[in-house]
Amino acid sequence: MSAPVLEISGSRFAGNLRAVREHLAPSELMLVVKDEAYGHGLDWALDAASDVAWFGAYDVATALHVRERSTARIFAWATSPADEVDAALAGGIDLGVGSWPYLELVIDRARHTKNRGRIHLKVDTGLHRNGIRPEEWEGVIAVARAAHMAGLIEVVGAWSHLAEASDAEDDESAAQFTAAADVWERISGQPLLRHLTASAASWWRPELRGSLSRIGAFCYGIRSADGPPIPGVLPVAALRAEVIEVAEETVTIGIGTLDGLPSILHGAAIGTPAGARELRDLSISESRVATWPGAAVGDRVTVFGPGMQGEGDATSLAEHIGSVGEEILVRLGPRVRREIVV
Ligand SMILES: *Cc1c(COP(=O)(O)O)cnc(C)c1O
Repeated sequence: MSAPVLEISGSRFAGNLRAVREHLAPSELMLVVKDEAYGHGLDWALDAASDVAWFGAYDVATALHVRERSTARIFAWATSPADEVDAALAGGIDLGVGSWPYLELVIDRARHTKNRGRIHLKVDTGLHRNGIRPEEWEGVIAVARAAHMAGLIEVVGAWSHLAEASDAEDDESAAQFTAAADVWERISGQPLLRHLTASAASWWRPELRGSLSRIGAFCYGIRSADGPPIPGVLPVAALRAEVIEVAEETVTIGIGTLDGLPSILHGAAIGTPAGARELRDLSISESRVATWPGAAVGDRVTVFGPGMQGEGDATSLAEHIGSVGEEILVRLGPRVRREIVV
């Protein structure tokens, strides 16, 4: 029995990176590679994107892994314990700092390790997850300025994250963000990199883009749920499985919930040699699909991605269950073999 395969296209990824960069310029691309490059494989993505100037890693462990392969700027924004901060400072990782205590920790570790920290202050613009609140901003600036003068840290950027729930809310968040970054620049006389937007807002709301744009989804060709295809951007990954049994009404394929497919995907359409067919039910290592004329053991089906008529992308599958394409991709397990294709 052959295992399912996630085919990953190098040329599509390169094309997406080109399209995204051209569309966002002069805002610079920060390629987000968290979650194993959204399930595509971190090392593959790093090698394929070796000319990217900024990587977004989320956590310090991932950032240090990127550092082994790249001399680019690397941004890690997970609030991390002291030992990880030490390793990040030694590795020249840019740190996202979203709270006063974390700022104090980074300054303290820079003093101890004698490695100067490069930090990006996160402004809370309404998501209330992580971020320095407006009433704290001037106090934080004073602390950061003092550490800056003492040579312990360099504040290189300001950033935030948008809810992307409505344009009006995002406008409000952007105004708060700009005001906060302006206060820093006025007090310090030093310009900041500014980054606020991820895929969707960077693409559709040019007026909100900063000097950097943190992009994951669109670089991998994952469109937003209920969103249109992105011009010049194509899905990078295609998930294929093999027919392992043919019965009267259904065909059994060798992929199931153990491979990461949500059990509630039944009813979604997948691509077969004869066009789209309904995915009927999913079990641990196999699933059943409505049959087609001439179906045979060894036939390949496309669960998502290009290559066979009737297929959708990871986002179409996700839409079927009220989720997002990223979630389908990052759930795929180790039994799914990654194969790099043109
Ligand atoms: C994941 C993430 C991004 C990238 O978002 P996409 O929608 O995949 O482009 C950007 N910024 C932060 C803080 C993130 O966590």
